[in-house]
Amino acid sequence: MSDWAPDVARLQAREDEEWLKVERAYCGRLLAYAYRRTGDRQAAEDVVQETLLGAVRGIDDFDPVFTFEQYLFGICKNRTIDSLRRRKARTLQLGPDEEGPQPIEFLARETETPSAIVRGKELTERAQTLYAEILRQWVEETWREREFLRLCVIEALFGGQWRNRDVWRRFQMRDETAVAGIKFRALKRLRELAAVEESGGDLLRYLAAVEEGNERLFDLDLAQLWRDKRVACPARHWIARLVAGTLDEEAGLFVRFHLDEMKCPWCLANRDDLSRADQSAELELLIERLRDSTRRFLRSRTGPDPSPTRLGPPPST
Ligand SMILES: [Zn+2]
Repeated sequence: MSDWAPDVARLQAREDEEWLKVERAYCGRLLAYAYRRTGDRQAAEDVVQETLLGAVRGIDDFDPVFTFEQYLFGICKNRTIDSLRRRKARTLQLGPDEEGPQPIEFLARETETPSAIVRGKELTERAQTLYAEILRQWVEETWREREFLRLCVIEALFGGQWRNRDVWRRFQMRDETAVAGIKFRALKRLRELAAVEESGGDLLRYLAAVEEGNERLFDLDLAQLWRDKRVACPARHWIARLVAGTLDEEAGLFVRFHLDEMKCPWCLANRDDLSRADQSAELELLIERLRDSTRRFLRSRTGPDPSPTRLGPPPST
């Protein structure tokens, strides 16, 4: 069972119907994300509208490396930051008395530049792409083997930068060396995966740096990658099972940890969306509004020039 995703070629062909399906399928979770961040229903609705327009505008540049949800959430994150910035600018004009609780810390974090694990922008990007890929492979393997405790431990260490001691306590493991053992084996497996991906390449020595104890440099970046690339995020249907109470206990251990302790904002948005009791009335109104604005935009693009090349087959990927 996989999550529904639109046909990107149809979206690129500016087909109303496919865009309408996108609005129906994703508007709830986007709204939940923006609402968690802004705490303001109107602002959150505006963010969702801007996100969908941004998605329509940018769809020709869609990168199939990402899932469609990642594409949308990426735009949503930026529009949310814009919205918070606008509000901050307004409240600063109003003076300190009227300044509500401001997510300043959040802004600072979101705009931080990732620390480079290697010098040189190009090399850094390659290294990050490699790490994201092998981490994803590792998570997939671990999930397939249903080693959910192992997954929790690595998410806590890599994604949350927990200390071994705290991981050991949280998961009531035999002793701290059990945590170190899991980490050791995960790093070993990651090296193997990297060797396959990057056979003989110059990036491999950066993984070796971890072995030599140069962990700080490595871990900082790893944590950012882990979160930004959503390496360990469960698919939406797993979260749906959790909400419905039908998720088995082992998988539940990880999914709950990811949501409640790692507080992944994207997965929390999915859970908020899936657990909302009344999906209907308010969301329908928003969907109406989105449909109008998307349609207007699509017409403005396809009206004067029907651009027949758009209707051809999608570029092969
Ligand atoms: Zn997540």
